[in-house]
Amino acid sequence: MARNKRFQRRVTRVVHVGPVPIGGAHPVSIQSMTTTHTRDVRETLAQIRRLAAAGCDLVRVAVPSLPDADALPELVRSSPVPLIADIHFTTSLALKALEAGVAKVRLNPGNMDDPDGLRRVLARAAELGRPIRFGVNSGSVRAAVGARLVRRRACPPRACAAGASDRNDLARLVRRPARGPRAGAAGASARRDLAPLMVDVLMDWVRQAETEGFRDLVLSAKASDVPTTLEAYRLLSRASDLPLHLGITAAGPMDEARTRSAIVLGALLSEGIGDTVRVSLTGSPVNEVLIAQEILAELGLRPRLGLRIISCPTCGRCEVDLIGLVEALKARTRDVLAPLTVAVMGCVVNGPGEAVEADVGIAAGKGHGILFREGKAVRKVPEKDLLDALLEEIAKKLA
Ligand code: SF4
Repeated sequence: MARNKRFQRRVTRVVHVGPVPIGGAHPVSIQSMTTTHTRDVRETLAQIRRLAAAGCDLVRVAVPSLPDADALPELVRSSPVPLIADIHFTTSLALKALEAGVAKVRLNPGNMDDPDGLRRVLARAAELGRPIRFGVNSGSVRAAVGARLVRRRACPPRACAAGASDRNDLARLVRRPARGPRAGAAGASARRDLAPLMVDVLMDWVRQAETEGFRDLVLSAKASDVPTTLEAYRLLSRASDLPLHLGITAAGPMDEARTRSAIVLGALLSEGIGDTVRVSLTGSPVNEVLIAQEILAELGLRPRLGLRIISCPTCGRCEVDLIGLVEALKARTRDVLAPLTVAVMGCVVNGPGEAVEADVGIAAGKGHGILFREGKAVRKVPEKDLLDALLEEIAKKLA
C-alpha cells in the first residue's frame, strides 16, 4: 500500500476488524454501507460483492430488526470482506450481531435502550475480541443532551452535579442565531459550540467503556457541515489516541457529497488525522468507494485504480475540441485499472510542460496535437486522430 511521507500520520491505537487493521501505521481503509434491507440476503450479498470489487475494505450493514439480525450469519459466511453491524437503540440486536460473527459493531451509546445494555455489549465484544465504533453525529448529540436534561429535571440543582453541566450543554445546543446583521456570526458561533459538545459527549462514553476495561474502540464525530466536522475531528484527535473513522454525515447527492467529502477527508488526512474513511452519499454506495479511492489516491495514501487524467480547463488559446476529447478518453478508458497519468492539454503555452510529466500526453495546436510518451515528443497527430493515438499509446504502456 502506498504511503505518503509528506503527511505525518497521528499515532493511534490499532484495532483489528477481522483481518483489516485500523490505526497505527496501517493504510487508511475504505468503508461503505449497503442500501439494501439486510434481511434480503441475496440483494445484500450482491451489493457487498459489488462494493468489495470496487475496492471497499469493510462493509457496514444496517440491523434495525430481528429479521435483519437473523440474516447476519449467512452474510458473514459469504461476504468477501469483514462486515460491520450498524445498531441503534436495541441491546439485544447488538448482542445477536456479535454472536453472528460480525467483525465490528457500530453503535451510538447515547441511544441504547437500557442503562446496562452498553455494559453487556462491551463485555461480550471483549470476550469475542471484536471492536466497537462509538459514532456520534450532530443530530444524535442534540437528542442525547436533551434527553439527559429531561431525565434530570427532577434533580435539584444543588443535589445533582451533572444537572448544571447538562443545562449548559443544552443551552449551547439550542442557542439560535441572532436576527439582523449579526445573524451570520451568531450562527457560526452556535455551530462552533457543537463540535466541542460532540467530543465531550463521545469522550464521556469512551471513559465509561475504558472503566469497564474495554479499549478496542474506533471513534467518529460527524456533522453535516464542513467546519463543524473538521473542528470535531481535530478536537477528537487531541483528546484521544483511538483510531478515527472519518466522514461527513448526510453529505447529500453525488456532486455535493464529493465536494464536502474531499474537503473534510482531504484536510484531515493531510493533517495526519484519520484511520478509516467513509464517503456517504445519496446514491449508489459503489460511488462512495470510488470517491474515497480518488481522495486517498490524490493524497498518495492509496494506489490509484485507474487512469489519472490531467487536462487543462481550456481557454481562448485552444484550437481543438479538448472537452470532447477528454470526455471520450474517460469513457473509453473506464475499465483501465492501471495507474497511468495521461495529460490532455489545450495549447503550447503550458501543454508540453504538463504533458512531459505524464506517462502519455498530448499538447494541442491548431487542428492537431503533439503526442508525448514519458516526457518526449513522439509525433504530430491530426485532431481527428488524437483519441486513437492516445488510446494506442496507453495500450502500448499496458502491454
Ligand atoms: Fe489555455 Fe493552453 Fe492553458 Fe489550456 S493549456 S488553459 S488552452 S493556456
